[in-house]
Amino acid sequence: MRILLVEDEDEMAELLRSALVRHSIIVDHASSLEIALEASLSHNHDAVLLDRKLPDGDGLSLIPQLRKQSPAMPIIVLSALGSLDNRVTGLDEGADDYLAKPFSVDELMARLRAVLRRPAQMRSETLALGDLVFEPEHSTVRIKGKPINLPRRELLALEALITRAGRTVSRDTLEQAVYGFDDDIASNALDAHLSRLRRKLVAARVEIHAIRGIGYLLREV
Ligand code: CA
Repeated sequence: MRILLVEDEDEMAELLRSALVRHSIIVDHASSLEIALEASLSHNHDAVLLDRKLPDGDGLSLIPQLRKQSPAMPIIVLSALGSLDNRVTGLDEGADDYLAKPFSVDELMARLRAVLRRPAQMRSETLALGDLVFEPEHSTVRIKGKPINLPRRELLALEALITRAGRTVSRDTLEQAVYGFDDDIASNALDAHLSRLRRKLVAARVEIHAIRGIGYLLREV
């Protein structure tokens, strides 16, 4: 899962980023409206966490553009402007939820799970292929019923492949799913993650089939 975090205060951004990363979420961090817009145009996000008082304007002004690109994407406003009026304005402007600062990270994670559980996202659906079972909501992987721990990037690659099982996934789509906006991607890094993942999937009778020049396909052996 990939989230756009729009927040200009470094300390707050770091706190949220580390909490999200612990849940195996890719975080694209933007410290202004301009950077947020650029990030939202270059990547698909599963949700947006949006601060209001940003150096170049009110975060709420970004909502119409985000909605135009991705109508069903959950947007949670995180703001020190926590009065009832402010919260009503935020929801009227199209936010799915509005959390007043200060808030606890646990509450934010709970709200995030709640907005991502909505039917449009269908995130709670368990995916199975061969002897592999993947539960997107908790990012858990089982092979023949036994839970296995995958490093974060392998988990993200598997999520991207299994949600499109039987279809070809382009290299670009995979890179977007596995790496953040700020990550430097070494040209062969994705291949290294995929080759480690491929070895682990042998036991599940599932293979990552590479189609030269086109992409990758996850299929049952
Ligand atoms: Ca701010």
